[in-house]
Amino acid sequence: MSAPGRPKHESSLGEEVAQRPEGRPFVAPGRPKHEPSLGEEVAQRPEGRSFIERGRDDAGVAGGHIAVVGAGWAGLAAAIELQRLGHRATVLEVRHEPGGRARQLPPSRFQAPLDNGQHLLLGAYHATLRLMRQLGCPPETKLWRMPLTLRSADGEFQLRVPRLPSPWHALAGLGFTRGLTGPERWAAVRLVWWLRQRNWHPEDTLTVAELMARHRQPFALTRKLWAPLCLAALNTPIDIACAQMFAHVLRDSLDGAASDSDLLLPRTDLSRLWPQAAAARLDMRYGQLVRSVQPGPNDIQVDGATYDAAILAVPPYMASRMIAALPGSAPLLDVLDGFSYAPIATLTLQLASPMPALPQPLLMLREDHDRGHVGQWVFDRTRLLGLDPARPELTVVASQHPALLDLSRSTLMQRLRTQLSEQLALPPVAEAELIIEKRGTFESRPGLARPGHLTPWPRLALAGDYTDTGYPAVLEGAVRSGIDAAAALHDALTA
Ligand SMILES: Cc1cc2nc3c(=O)[nH]c(=O)nc-3n(C[C@H](O)[C@H](O)[C@H](O)COP(=O)(O)OP(=O)(O)OC[C@H]3O[C@@H](n4cnc5c(N)ncnc54)[C@H](O)[C@@H]3O)c2cc1C
Repeated sequence: MSAPGRPKHESSLGEEVAQRPEGRPFVAPGRPKHEPSLGEEVAQRPEGRSFIERGRDDAGVAGGHIAVVGAGWAGLAAAIELQRLGHRATVLEVRHEPGGRARQLPPSRFQAPLDNGQHLLLGAYHATLRLMRQLGCPPETKLWRMPLTLRSADGEFQLRVPRLPSPWHALAGLGFTRGLTGPERWAAVRLVWWLRQRNWHPEDTLTVAELMARHRQPFALTRKLWAPLCLAALNTPIDIACAQMFAHVLRDSLDGAASDSDLLLPRTDLSRLWPQAAAARLDMRYGQLVRSVQPGPNDIQVDGATYDAAILAVPPYMASRMIAALPGSAPLLDVLDGFSYAPIATLTLQLASPMPALPQPLLMLREDHDRGHVGQWVFDRTRLLGLDPARPELTVVASQHPALLDLSRSTLMQRLRTQLSEQLALPPVAEAELIIEKRGTFESRPGLARPGHLTPWPRLALAGDYTDTGYPAVLEGAVRSGIDAAAALHDALTA
C-alpha cells in the first residue's frame, strides 16, 4: 500500500519483506533497519524457548514483542498496558493518525481541526480518565465537565441532575424535569427505581421499547427523554435497542458517585486528547494494512512478520477477514459476523457573523422525521475549543437514522441546516462540512453475542468496543477492552 506522508525512515511492510535476505528469520518486524530497539538483543530468539520464557528467565520481566493491529482507542490502550506489563508493543495502523473512529481529520477551512465525529464522555469513564492521567493529559484541562443537563435548544425541556448524593441526584433530576407533566416525571422515577431494585437487570430479551411499554411509560416521556437518551447512549433506536444494555448505561451514569453522571466534552481535537501522547510512547507503524494473521504454537505471523503474540484491535468485520482462513475459526466467525451497524453523521458549520452564546455547550434538537429533521444534538465548538467568536462554529450530530445513508449529502446537509435554524437564531453559514461514518457503531440489540478477549489461539487476542465489555459501542468500552485484552494475553503467555 502506498503511504504518502510517511516519515522517510519508515518503509512499508511489503518493502521490508522484499528486502529480507532469503531464509533469514524475520526479527523485530516492521522496525526500521537503522533504528535498533532497546529490546533488539532480547528479540534474538534462543532455540527451543519462547520469547516470554527467556524474558522472564533473564530479565525478570515477561517481555515479549506483541503486534497490536489498529490504533483506535482500544489498540492504543492495549499497547500502553502491554508496555506497562513489560512487553514491547508495535502498533500497525492503516491510517496516518492515531485514534481510529475518535480521531482528528486532516486540516480544513475551520478554525480548529475537525474530528471524525463529535464525541462526548461521561464522568463514569474511569478507565479512560485514568489512562489520560497516566499519559500526562489531565482531564481537568482537556475536558469540559458539566453536571448532566439535557436541555432542548428551544428551552422547553430541561433535565438537570443536581449535586446530591447518589441516587438522590438522579431521582431529584428526573422528579424536577422541565417539560414533563407530573405523571410523566413520576413514571420516569418509578422506572429508574424499579431498575435499581432489580440491580439494573431487566430481562435479557427485552428491547427498550418493550421495557417502556411494560412499565407504562407515557408516550411523551419516551419521545422526550428515553428515546433520545437511548439513541445517544447506544446509537440504536428504542424499538430494536437492548433494554439490558440501556439499563447498564443508566446504572453507570445514575447509580455511581454523583460525578459519574457528569458530561465531559473535549476541549481539543480527539487525537490530542490522549491518542497522540500514547502514540509518542509507542512503536507506531502507520500506513500498514494488515491482511492476515497466522498463529503458531510459539509465535504468530502478522502479514508474514513474526511476533510473540498479537492483539487485533480492529472492528469485527475486519477481524473476521483476518482470521477467516484459519482452521477452527468458524465459531468465532459466526460471532464476528453477527454484528449489524448504524451510521452517525456530523455536520460542522462556520457562521459568517457572531451569534449569542448557547446557554450551554450541548443542546438537544427536536426531531421531526416527517420533515427530514433527523439531528439530535448541537455542540458549541466556539466555546468548547476557545475559537474566535467573530466566526462561530457549531457541530450537529445525527445518529442512526436510515435517511443518513439514503439521502444525498447535499440534501442531508440542507435538512440539518434547516432544522438547526428553525430551533436556534443562526447567522448565515460561511462553511459547512458533513462527515458520515456509515458503520459508526454496532447496534446494541437484545441477545447480541459479543466475543471475549481470548481466542482459540493462545497467542491471539481481540480488543475493541464490540468485545464483551458490558458497554455499548463507546470510548470507555474501547479503552477497557484494550486494557483487559492486554492483561488476558499477558496472563495466557506467562501462565
Ligand atoms: C461519529 C461517531 C460518534 C461517536 N460518538 C461517541 C460518543 O459521543 N461517546 C462515545 O463514548 N463513543 C462514541 N462513538 C463510539 C467510539 O468512537 C467508538 O466506540 C471507539 O472509537 C471505538 O474504538 P476501537 O478502538 O474499538 O475501534 P476503532 O476506533 O474503529 O479502531 C480500529 C482501528 O483499526 C484500524 N484498522 C482497521 N483495519 C485495519 C487493518 N486491516 N490494518 C491496520 N489497521 C486497521 C482502523 O483504521 C482504526 O484506527 C462514536 C463513534 C462515531 C463513529
